[in-house]
Amino acid sequence: MEKEWGSLHKRCSCGDVMPMKLRTVIYSNKVEIDNVPIYSCTSCNRSEVFPEVKPDLTGLISTLGAFPVKQTYLFNEWNEWAKLLVEAYHDQKHSDPAMMRRLTEERIDMLLDLFAVAQASGDEDWTADIHKRLAQLSRSLLQYG
Ligand SMILES: [Zn+2]
Repeated sequence: MEKEWGSLHKRCSCGDVMPMKLRTVIYSNKVEIDNVPIYSCTSCNRSEVFPEVKPDLTGLISTLGAFPVKQTYLFNEWNEWAKLLVEAYHDQKHSDPAMMRRLTEERIDMLLDLFAVAQASGDEDWTADIHKRLAQLSRSLLQYG
């Protein structure tokens, strides 16, 4: 499964463009991680995990251990920005970077409200979870400049 974003891309070392796609990463021939944002060169096939999501991907992989059982993960359930990309893809809003930026900012606003509620409730796990999502979204905002 590959989905392509015309608006999010970078330049490959071979000189061609690398559009960003949501792709499946296979780990240890057993574990499938779907919907990972990856830059792929259309000429030389070089690919690169989107830098802002790399910490979450390596974090997920590190929980699998050396001999993982066959299983499938949805990366969009681990990374808030990948989640936003999948939603935007379904709504056909992804082709417009300004729209993606606005969606990301709206989601940050919503999470900030929720963060205040979580902190007030004294639920540390919940607070930490929202804090993690906010950090993921803030990292992804950097790409819009
Ligand atoms: Zn290339």
